[in-house]
Amino acid sequence: MVQYSNPEIGLKKLVGEILPAMGIEDERVLSAFRRVPRHRFVDEALGLRAYEDAALPIGYGQTISQPSTIAYVAQALELQGHEKVLEIGSGSGYQTAILAHLVERVFTMERIRPLGNQVWPRLDRLGLSNVAIRIGDGTYGWPDQAPFDAVVVSAGSPRVPEHLIRQLRVGGKMIIPLEVDGSQRLTKVVKRPSGIDRIELDSCRFVKLVGKYGWRNASRRRKTDNALDS
Ligand code: SAH
Repeated sequence: MVQYSNPEIGLKKLVGEILPAMGIEDERVLSAFRRVPRHRFVDEALGLRAYEDAALPIGYGQTISQPSTIAYVAQALELQGHEKVLEIGSGSGYQTAILAHLVERVFTMERIRPLGNQVWPRLDRLGLSNVAIRIGDGTYGWPDQAPFDAVVVSAGSPRVPEHLIRQLRVGGKMIIPLEVDGSQRLTKVVKRPSGIDRIELDSCRFVKLVGKYGWRNASRRRKTDNALDS
């Protein structure tokens, strides 16, 4: 366990050493991390651990994502700055803040109201005003704001929710952890005029995507859950 009593030292180490050692080279991504103090997104009691490259509990059985995973996802999306992005699973809002520095507009959805309610004040405090948040089941997406240039799903799903594919523009990319045979694979989905391409990136461990087109129940698995919807 690494603890930093001074957040600035922790953040410097995260951006200067930990992320580059994990293969993160995209300068825009590193610069976004430099601008988001992660200790503001966890409980004060966990503040000293905020700059570890680890997922940490945020209550309600959920976690703030591991920084290197968020960086890997952002790098894989090859964001240029003009994009409109849909994020499913705001959680603490940390990844939302990173994305907000990388693109033009972020639309983020969270199903657990008390978590979602914390996101806006945190982002506001950091001066980030290009984010809209909606509480609800993100497996339906945000149809009135579609199409999106990119979709980031921050929770593990048995399938690619069809609404999210529909709301992605042609040529747009989605990153989603898909559960196959009991283990999760971070998957990049690219929308083509005639369907989708799926590229497996890495193994991963996310909390469950719970919703109509994800897992129907947080603790129980259904027999048909490996079917692909799209
Ligand atoms: N990236 C976030 C952590 C996400 S944890 C961070 O950096 O803090 C995954 C989140 O997805 C949890 O908060 C969980 O409540 C949420 N979630 C799960 N299923 C969802 C759904 N169908 N719609 C919206 N949010 C969902």
